[in-house]
Amino acid sequence: MAERKEGINTICTHFGELEDTVYKGAVSPLYMSTSYAFEEVAVKRYPRYFNTPNQVALAQKIAALEHAEAALIFGSGMAAISTSLLAFLQAGDHVVLQKTLYGGTYNLVTEEFGKFGISYSFTDGLKAEDFEAKIQENTKVVYIETPSNPLLTITDLKAVAALCKKHNIISMIDNTFASPVNQNPIDFGIDVVLHSATKYMGGHSDILAGAVATTDDYIHRIFHLAKNLGGSLSDYTVWLLERSIKTMGIRVRAQNENAQQMAAYLAQHKDIKTVYYPGLPSHPDHEIAKAQMKGFGGMLSFELQEGIDASEFQKSLQLIKSSMSLAGVESTMLSPTKTSHALLSAEERKRQGIADGLIRFSVGIEEVQDLMADIDQALENVKSNSTIKLP
Ligand code: PLP
Repeated sequence: MAERKEGINTICTHFGELEDTVYKGAVSPLYMSTSYAFEEVAVKRYPRYFNTPNQVALAQKIAALEHAEAALIFGSGMAAISTSLLAFLQAGDHVVLQKTLYGGTYNLVTEEFGKFGISYSFTDGLKAEDFEAKIQENTKVVYIETPSNPLLTITDLKAVAALCKKHNIISMIDNTFASPVNQNPIDFGIDVVLHSATKYMGGHSDILAGAVATTDDYIHRIFHLAKNLGGSLSDYTVWLLERSIKTMGIRVRAQNENAQQMAAYLAQHKDIKTVYYPGLPSHPDHEIAKAQMKGFGGMLSFELQEGIDASEFQKSLQLIKSSMSLAGVESTMLSPTKTSHALLSAEERKRQGIADGLIRFSVGIEEVQDLMADIDQALENVKSNSTIKLP
């Protein structure tokens, strides 16, 4: 679908608003009813049918943001991901997934798909030929995540979309890390776009939600399973999410800017060994990121120099919170090994390149000099308390 003529902040603020026809209030009214008339109505509404007024309106906003025909809102990112994958897969089918994935998605596939007779392969690399190498006659879906959690790897959207079209396979992407502000995969030919709306769409670390955006046809197919699985979002949270998305454009752009500066700062820091950020020219796929992203996002990861304890470092931070999840306006850090990827075996983490000392940094909207000062004081504190002699 063509990009809309309205700019991102206009879509965030105005699309999918419900008009308050009674009091003419400036924001969408909230319809909390779980019970609607069924006689003489065009639509039989019920929250689990994903069709209450607030659900329908927010879905229109998210569809507009992703240049899609339609969208559905779910109770979590995993509800959106599991329902969408299962809507296109059945016993005997096969799915190809990229090797670097959010831990929850990896667990869903490896722990549950066998029960449904669905087989899967993870790619060895992230190039189109790595995906092609795993395609079988019964492959129905190719699933990617770019930038990926937690290593910020980049997958070429155009190349994967073309490959899927060639083999008549549905392409799906987890677009959570980029957000629709920075990346619109449908413009590159990807079929189905998924979000943990808990992250940049919510943006304040207080909403758990998910979304899928795609064609009317595919939404119909996903809805068919969704109403049976029952993973819809309560209308109160739908309303809150709509309010949050109004500021998503300005939040994410501020986070892009801060993350770019923090990545450059960390990359030249003597206590930092490696920085993973697609906005750095040193990132192996910086050129692909440049071609498909409008901004490089607010997420980065880094490893400390040998001997500096990652856990002690995080405990010494005073401004940056050591906490799970990501994408809030406040900066947070975590160890993927202890959180998002804790349920993976040590061997699987190693295969994905996730070192024990890796720290994932969700950059917020604070002033960057305050973030830099916090990191510096934490490093000095850890080094001065270390029993090992550090530079
Ligand atoms: N996808 C990515 C990239 C994530 O980081 C997460 C959660 O951290 C999810 C999906 C799952 O989302 P949720 O926790 O909203 O179910």
